[in-house]
Amino acid sequence: MEENCIFCKIARGDIPSATLYEDEDLRVILDLGPASKGHALVIPKKHAANLFELPDETAQKAIVVAKRVAAKLKEGLHADGLNLVQNNGAAAGQTVDHFHIHLIPRYEGDTVNVGWTPGELNDADKEEILELFR
Ligand code: 5GP
Ligand code: ZN
Repeated sequence: MEENCIFCKIARGDIPSATLYEDEDLRVILDLGPASKGHALVIPKKHAANLFELPDETAQKAIVVAKRVAAKLKEGLHADGLNLVQNNGAAAGQTVDHFHIHLIPRYEGDTVNVGWTPGELNDADKEEILELFR
């Protein structure tokens, strides 16, 4: 538990939330500022600031829970699609420094914006990146 971390308090139940699912490791809640109807957040109970601090075991559990809740939201709300979004760092849009996965149901013609303008993969970048993994 990090002091002054809002998601630690929510995940532990110290602050009430609209909870869709809870187990010993995770809580799934409705986002207070939803991008769309059904926008939910998968939040580990143990504090990790971001993906890079998240233990593998928690990551595994979180994606399975995300999958299950996503399926139920999509079916129950008759969504046409669903985005998983997970921001790390202010540059990537992270505003709460406690790891979370967004589940964002999508509806044909909605105005949700999680896109980007495609660039072009150039040879120098490709080589640099491939070299990192050799
Ligand atoms: P981030 O920008 O860090 O990826 O996402 C943070 C999300 O948390 C935002 O979508 C925001 O609406 C949501 N949020 C922030 N504070 C609260 C809160 O107190 N309760 C709930 N349910 N959601 C919150
Ligand atoms: Zn926290």
